[in-house]
Formats: sequence, structure tokens, C-alpha cells
Amino acid sequence: MKRVHRFVTNDFTVRVSVVNATTVVQEMQIIQNSYPLATVGIGRAMVGALLMSSHLKSGQEVGLLFKGNGPISSIYAEASYEGHVRGYCPQPDYEAPPDEDPLNLGRALGNGTLSVTRHQPFQRQPFHGTVEMTSGEVGEDLAHYLHQSQQIRSIINLGVYLDSYGKVKAAGGLLIEVMPGVEDTIVDRLEKNRQAEKANISEKLLKGISETDLIAPYLLGLPYTEIPHEHEIKYFCPCTVDRVKRALSLLGTGGLQEIIEEDGKAQITCQICGRHYVLNVQELEDLKNEVRRQSLH
Ligand SMILES: [Zn+2]
Repeated sequence: MKRVHRFVTNDFTVRVSVVNATTVVQEMQIIQNSYPLATVGIGRAMVGALLMSSHLKSGQEVGLLFKGNGPISSIYAEASYEGHVRGYCPQPDYEAPPDEDPLNLGRALGNGTLSVTRHQPFQRQPFHGTVEMTSGEVGEDLAHYLHQSQQIRSIINLGVYLDSYGKVKAAGGLLIEVMPGVEDTIVDRLEKNRQAEKANISEKLLKGISETDLIAPYLLGLPYTEIPHEHEIKYFCPCTVDRVKRALSLLGTGGLQEIIEEDGKAQITCQICGRHYVLNVQELEDLKNEVRRQSLH
């Protein structure tokens, strides 16, 4: 069972999460048929969201929106404490011009912002935080966000390994967070460990190295303990026919009437999970009447 593994140093000043997310990133790629650049971007964001959400509480989730002025325009991922994760990019088949690095995500996203949203059940208003993107490579941007908004210094290493056909072979990452006010000796130790650890995380994941062994080199000299976190990671999309109807109602009565006359039904595919929805004439008429009723209020 794949899950986010969590650890804490025995003095509670450093917390760690690590995940092998290969299966869920592969599933996303199969559903969305994403090309390498979008796959790497969505994959890293999904891993980042999984790592960050593992420190929340039951029922909470985190959403990450990277929005820039570049050709790929945005990347979105969200994950819950329970390990449900999904991701999306509106330009899944974008390819960099032939003279450019084909996997330069920062250039494809351009300049812009990272917005982090935390949803909590029974709370109408989610928590929002926004920072400028520093590199557009996801990991650095998340570290910048944690520092700016929560004064948490961190080490983030995210990896998505593609084969020569652009298919996902491995994906995962780790997040090491230093709580505010920690002694400098611990920070120095982490920094030395990080510099000594030269191995590429996606290659390690490809070799099947365990989560425990992935983090060990980073925590050399710091006694630590695993914290139980028994939630299997799953690609999951909460879309429903009601959400589809809500989206369609934005077309207004005129737009709905057009669909009824021209197609006799509405076929919608959720771009995040690939689920198909079909609304017949009667359902479209009902929706149209509902929209009309609401517009009278
Ligand atoms: Zn969906």
C-alpha cells in the first residue's frame, strides 16, 4: 500500500513527509494523456500537495495553484489528509519550441503566483495564501511559500521520472520542515546532509528504494521516529452530476436552449478524472427552468 510516510525528530523540531506517488501520477497521465512538460508539472504539484496535506488534520485538504503568464498558463493539484489527490493543467499537450529545454517548467509557466488554499470541513471560507513564484519549478516555490507564510524553513525534493516515450516511470518526493525557533546546530546539520546527498530522487524512486531509506541520508545524526499515517494514496476526483449541472447553468437559459435544439443532449467529460456525464433533453429542460426561476429572484 502506497501512503505518505511521516517522521519527526525526537526533539519535535523537524518534521518530515515522504511519498512514492508513482501510481497516482501514472493514473493522472493515462486519464489526461499529458505530454512530458505538463506531466512533470502536474506530477510534482500532486506530490507537493500530498506531502503538505499529510500534516493537516482529518478531513482537511490543500490546493496548489501555480498561475503564470507563460504558454502552459497554470498547474493545479490538490490532496487531502486521507491521501486523495488530483491534478490538472489546461494545456496538457504543450511542447516547448525545439531550441528550448523540453522540460523547463519555469519558462513554460512564466512569471506569476502560487496560491495555496486550505479547505476545512464545516468552514465556509477556506484559508488562502499567495506568493510570487520564484522559479516555477514547483519545489522551490513551495519552499518559498512555507517560509513567507508560515516562517517554516524547508528542504523539498520532488521528482518525476519519464521514460524515452514520455511515460511516467516513477514519481515522488520528500518535504523536511524546520519548525520556527529551532537551534542553528540542527539547521546546519540538515544543510550539511542535504549537500552530501547528491543522488537524484526520481532515480532512487525508480530503483524502488523505500521511503524510509529515501529520508535517512537527510536526517543523519538526528534521532527520529515514524508517526503512523495509514491512508492509502488514491487518484480521486470529487466531481458529481450536480457540479456538472452547476457549471452548465453558467451558460444561462439561452445557452442551454441552444444545446437542446442543436444536440438534444449534453455530453461532458471531467478533464481531471475522465468521468463522462450525459444529460438528456428532459434534464436540460429542468436545468433551464431552474436557471430561469433563479434569475427571477
Ligand atoms: Zn472528475
